[in-house]
Amino acid sequence: MIEVNVTQESQLDKVDFNNIPFGKVFSDHMFVADYVDGQWQDMKIMPTSKISFHPSMMALHYGQSIFEGMKATRHVNGQPLLFRPEMHAERLNNSARRMSMPELPKELFLDAVRQLVRIDSNWIPKDKGSALYIRPFMFATDEFIGVRASSKYKFIIITLPVGPYYNKAVKLKVERKYVRAVHGGVGEAKTCGNYAASLLPAQLAKAEGFDQVIWMDAKEFKYVQEVGTMNLFFVFEGKKVVTPATDGAILKGITRSSIIEILKHHDYAVEERKVTIDEIFEAAANGTFVEAFGTGTAALIANIELIQDGDHKIEMTEADWDLSNRMKNYINSLRAGEIEDPYGWVETLNNVSEIAS
Ligand SMILES: *Cc1c(COP(=O)(O)O)cnc(C)c1O
Repeated sequence: MIEVNVTQESQLDKVDFNNIPFGKVFSDHMFVADYVDGQWQDMKIMPTSKISFHPSMMALHYGQSIFEGMKATRHVNGQPLLFRPEMHAERLNNSARRMSMPELPKELFLDAVRQLVRIDSNWIPKDKGSALYIRPFMFATDEFIGVRASSKYKFIIITLPVGPYYNKAVKLKVERKYVRAVHGGVGEAKTCGNYAASLLPAQLAKAEGFDQVIWMDAKEFKYVQEVGTMNLFFVFEGKKVVTPATDGAILKGITRSSIIEILKHHDYAVEERKVTIDEIFEAAANGTFVEAFGTGTAALIANIELIQDGDHKIEMTEADWDLSNRMKNYINSLRAGEIEDPYGWVETLNNVSEIAS
């Protein structure tokens, strides 16, 4: 079903795996499929290359464009591993529905990811914490000027080797002017416009010395939503962890859902609910707040060294990052196959039944 056209000019030899610039080095192959006449067709794996488009391509004008971000890692014995790929397939389709785009059959998504990673498995870096980043995305390709849903789409998967994500702790500013997502909007979809809209506030925050902003609810600026491309967790004394409930305006992170399960499995009381920024600052003032961390496929777990709201600051140091560092190690070890996977999240690629092709 998936036609495979293998490259004659592998670029693998040109990559210095000890020093991979993030986001710029692409592996040899990509997967491409076209949605035409109400059907996904022309599925192929081919050498990664440029594609040309008519300037009226609808995605460029009206923004029907969605994506996923996932990673293939290497088992300590060398085998390629995927992490919860079904959840990524499902989330892509949730995004598609919201953006009035066609869903992709889950089996097609999974076959494409598995075959692509197998073909480029030599591109998965060996060092623990590094990975082959997988970027599936879909966009509108009708050549038409006029606002409506496109009738044609392209779905592509490209992959990129990435070194251990820079694990610098982040400084976060509570954003009091701009908002990311409103109820009824598209905050839960992994769609391009959400990121375009976040760039200006992020730049302004960077100019003030922060790394990213904490998005607040768009109505009252009272409840915490998330950060950049990460969900947020707040740790309190007494093995209590709180994370904002996904209410339609927050991206449903797969790392988020995994961390919630891991914490529960380790006897933490995890609360998914509305979280006010005031309660965090109050807990910090009365000494019951321990730390906060971010979760997402790119960084897995990001330590946080500063949360600042106007003149109010919560500062955290290495000594506070006990739980976040343990979670980081745990999830990295899980993804390297070093520890037992009691959740059934890690898929060993060579054991996946071969796809009829
Ligand atoms: C992708 C993303 C996340 C993290 O999701 P993961 O599935 O854990 O990678 C969080 N917030 C936003 C806005 C995102 O785009």
